[in-house]
Amino acid sequence: MSYDRVYKTRYYEQNRDRIAQYNKRWRQQRRLSHPGEAVAQNERVKVYQQTPTGQAALTAGRLNTMARKRSQKGRVDAHQILTLPDRCAECGDIDSLEIDHIVPAMRGGLNTIENIQRLCGACHQAKTNREKAVRVDVVSPPPLEQLELFAMEKAV
Ligand SMILES: [Zn+2]
Repeated sequence: MSYDRVYKTRYYEQNRDRIAQYNKRWRQQRRLSHPGEAVAQNERVKVYQQTPTGQAALTAGRLNTMARKRSQKGRVDAHQILTLPDRCAECGDIDSLEIDHIVPAMRGGLNTIENIQRLCGACHQAKTNREKAVRVDVVSPPPLEQLELFAMEKAV
């Protein structure tokens, strides 16, 4: 990335809310001055979102928004989403596919295409349950041995 590009990206990230607000106001005014334009644009977006690329763009957008909200690093785009196979990575099912982070965000998994797979609803639920089970182990009390060692240290 060139210096200019880096600078622009950083500027955008630091002023995201302000820029979004400015753009929103611009769109509102434009809608008043050019009424037909917004309707036509909405139609174009609706048609685009029916296409595979449009669907992938929606998925990528949702993943990136979620990642930003939970401070997860990484970014995906529509073309990367399109490279994912159209079947469950665990059982091979092709129905009710969902996006899954292989290493979950909770455990530092990145929002990158290498860490993303498609799972069917059932496998996704099962995987989430397994991850929750592990998480419970982490907060459970330390084994008795450790408590005994701690007590011995105190006694010395
Ligand atoms: Zn499955």
